[in-house]
Amino acid sequence: MKQVVVIGGGVVGVTTAWALVQAGHRVTLVERAAGLAEGASRANGGQLSYRYVSPLADAGVPLKALGWLLDPDGPLRFRPDGSLAQWRWLAAFLARCRADINRRTTERLLALGAFSQQSFMELQREAALNAIELRTPGKLVVYRKPASFLRAAAAADPKGPERALSREECLALEPSLGDCDQPWVAGGIFTAGEAVADCHALCLQLGRRLERHPNFQGVVQAQALGFLTERGRVVALRSTVGELGADDFVLAAGLQSAALAAPLGLRLPLYPLKGYSLSAPIAGHHRPPTVSVTDFERKTLYARIGQQLRVAAMVDLVGEDARVDPDRLAALHRTVRASFPKAADYALAVPWAGLRPATPSGAPMLGPTPLAGLWLNVGHGALGFTFSFGSARIVADLVSGRPSPLDLDGLGLRTA
Ligand SMILES: Cc1cc2nc3c(=O)[nH]c(=O)nc-3n(C[C@H](O)[C@H](O)[C@H](O)COP(=O)(O)OP(=O)(O)OC[C@H]3O[C@@H](n4cnc5c(N)ncnc54)[C@H](O)[C@@H]3O)c2cc1C
Repeated sequence: MKQVVVIGGGVVGVTTAWALVQAGHRVTLVERAAGLAEGASRANGGQLSYRYVSPLADAGVPLKALGWLLDPDGPLRFRPDGSLAQWRWLAAFLARCRADINRRTTERLLALGAFSQQSFMELQREAALNAIELRTPGKLVVYRKPASFLRAAAAADPKGPERALSREECLALEPSLGDCDQPWVAGGIFTAGEAVADCHALCLQLGRRLERHPNFQGVVQAQALGFLTERGRVVALRSTVGELGADDFVLAAGLQSAALAAPLGLRLPLYPLKGYSLSAPIAGHHRPPTVSVTDFERKTLYARIGQQLRVAAMVDLVGEDARVDPDRLAALHRTVRASFPKAADYALAVPWAGLRPATPSGAPMLGPTPLAGLWLNVGHGALGFTFSFGSARIVADLVSGRPSPLDLDGLGLRTA
């Protein structure tokens, strides 16, 4: 049994703490906010998207990005934030916009997604989470342009669960797609088995299960400030409530992990990809989508989470600024009202903005660092909820001295 400190109480830190106590370790969770999941895990899209994992970096994306940037309602916005980190991240991202790199990363992320799905089922058996609005309606990725649909249909793995659906089949599967004056769907790819849940509710409930676990030593509400090392080993965390000694430390502080690792000489290539969500109440007369829907061209996700329609969208490279920009919010409202006009009460929608902790490749960084006793579980970008369960198990196995259950090639510190 080891004494382990996990830094960060988002979905990645909370699931890591759970996997570690289940593996028999004594665990302390350090979180600077008053509650769990107040960062990127607060009001995300809620998709457990185990199969739709292709990263943003791909051939042709730089050209498409120019078009997106020219469209004021487009999914992408870029504003120089005055930092070298932004240009460095962008250069590394552009270098990865190649079909062969995208294919390799997608393969790794598919393996991580499958392992995460299995790990989520184990977590459910162990922790019996309820009231997390879990549903498995499947995911429909819809295409506005016939050419994009035909390309996606041709690329779908014939041995996988994906099914290409014509426009009519999409409307039959999800009638709410036809609720606007000019239905916008050219076709879609449906994947059964994809799930939806409330990430924030899951974190809070898992936090309560942790509090009752005999191996859990509690949440320390404090800001982590840095690490103390002795002969190449991390021996303590410096924090606003003093030093916390332990055998091992797992860095799971999302975006802020980079600043905590930097004084140790570790450069974590993380940059905030800012996104927005709306949570709009659903009343009896509304017709929300039943399956979870991704609008491929607008990069907008729609999912019913309990009595709310959760819409998540946008990738803004504007620095570490989580404020809701009124222009972007208005753009999101326009898209949503035009696409699903009868789905929910948008006048009462609660807006939110969050910062995805993203690596240039789109793959998280899991596992050891050059410093003994310090482990990473960071950089999950657009799919941190989906990948958290598998990533947590992998890191818990490594901390326990067992081999990783998954090949970590491409998921480590040097390859992001
Ligand atoms: C708009 C949007 C939609 C999304 N939709 C989806 C989706 O549908 N499906 C999906 O899988 N993923 C989705 N994501 C991505 C997902 O939300 C993130 O990848 C995930 O929340 C990252 O979790 P995390 O625990 O690494 O980071 P966070 O949730 O940000 O947690 C990090 C925690 O560390 C704490 N912390 C930071 N610094 C310190 C410090 N120095 N000391 C102590 N504590 C510290 C923070 O307070 C925070 O609580 C979405 C993200 C956004 C923004």
